[in-house]
Amino acid sequence: MKKTKIIATHGPAIQWEQGLYSLYNMGVNVIRFNFSHAQYDSVRETLKIMRKNNRSGRTALSMLLDTKGPEIRTWDLSQKQNYKTWDIFRLYISKHDFKEDGTALFCDYEFLGEDAYEGQIIDIDSGLFQVKVVKIHRSYLEVEAQNDAVIWSRRHVNLPWIRLKMPGITEKDKQDVAFAVEESMDFIAQSFVRSAANIRELREYLDSLWGKDMRIIAKIENQEWIDNISEIIREADGIMVARWDLGIEVPIEKLPTYQANIVKETLAQGKFTIIATHLLESMIENPFPTRAEVSDIYNSVIQRSDAVMLSGETAAGKYPYRSVEVMSATIWEAEKNISVSHPAYSDSWLTPRDIEKKSLIKSAIYSAEELGVQALFIFTKSGKLARLASAFRPNLPIYAFTPYLSSVAYMNILYGIKPYLVENWDTDFIWNVSEAIDICKADNILKVWDKIILVNDMRKKWKEMPLIELLEIV
Ligand code: PEP
Repeated sequence: MKKTKIIATHGPAIQWEQGLYSLYNMGVNVIRFNFSHAQYDSVRETLKIMRKNNRSGRTALSMLLDTKGPEIRTWDLSQKQNYKTWDIFRLYISKHDFKEDGTALFCDYEFLGEDAYEGQIIDIDSGLFQVKVVKIHRSYLEVEAQNDAVIWSRRHVNLPWIRLKMPGITEKDKQDVAFAVEESMDFIAQSFVRSAANIRELREYLDSLWGKDMRIIAKIENQEWIDNISEIIREADGIMVARWDLGIEVPIEKLPTYQANIVKETLAQGKFTIIATHLLESMIENPFPTRAEVSDIYNSVIQRSDAVMLSGETAAGKYPYRSVEVMSATIWEAEKNISVSHPAYSDSWLTPRDIEKKSLIKSAIYSAEELGVQALFIFTKSGKLARLASAFRPNLPIYAFTPYLSSVAYMNILYGIKPYLVENWDTDFIWNVSEAIDICKADNILKVWDKIILVNDMRKKWKEMPLIELLEIV
């Protein structure tokens, strides 16, 4: 069983039914909708197909909405502008005073005049054009080009050294999150938030929409996040290492160190991680990856991230399916070389009862590996037991059974967990076990005389009792 999960970004290249089905069969677990670009109508159509196929059991694909977040951009231009290194020009902060003159630009961050200082570097067009602040005037900054560039309308601006005064969730994000709840999506990836308070704000907003089941993924995109990483991990359900923006906001050579540390720290808190961006960038155009890209996927798996993500490769690339094949094959190869160990993780987000369950699960994993049983079975309504098991990074497959599609969707992103829906969930646990065994036999996962260990919450009167059992398949 492939343990590391794959997220593919939705776009014209993969939005039709057969395409989604093929991606699922090739190992994709989650489809990401990028709301910096997505249109409601086309997303709605795809979600309808996904829900139908998930309900019929043809696929099990989770749905992730990635918010646009608050962002800073340059303003519209009537034509492209050319810059040469050392050119001095005006970067306006007052819209009123801004006039196109062939080099002037307007930046829509209203506090730039207060927050900037001389000598500071500003990244325009996602870091492709760097300018240095020479002098600060009332309505504009005098800046000096640090490289040659051609700049068109509405380019991204990054201000890495500023603590930005921007809202945690914009009005557009609120509309998009409401859409996600209405469409019963499973995960929100929150862009450009800067503190745990921003995540709490989103959670409160979700609660007001009855979207309590929605899991929040915090995208780590700047230095401020890195500085606040522990409290952010504590507040979020999972973490995405969003390497595009992070690679602009921090010195690029620090990116691998930050990735390794974020994965380690997130795992140490028992939460899940996603490594995003540029994993197979060259395959947007080419049928074959670079050596460095394959090594990048391999290393992400060895670092024990829960998931790896494709962006433009599947959304708009020429080879979306081939990209998934390459990613899947590299994951399989890397997983052969993972050294087995069971990292301890923090109890801080767990209730006293969860802590008891965690301890039992740990024993179950050690016993299962010692006895050489074929699999661990977990019975869980919310998916939490599966998360507790996955965070120990077990070496044997874990099959998790639940009565809810929303829990299947959550567990889809978790390392080493294969979730199944048990349609006829019974309060009598014996029936659930027998249905789970039938499901696995039908999927050719287990055969007669195989041994499994199962972990379950057994209800005794009003109390839930965690239970571990060793079972032989007959
Ligand atoms: C990233 O920055 O790496 C990322 C995944 O976010 P976006 O696609 O919004 O740039």
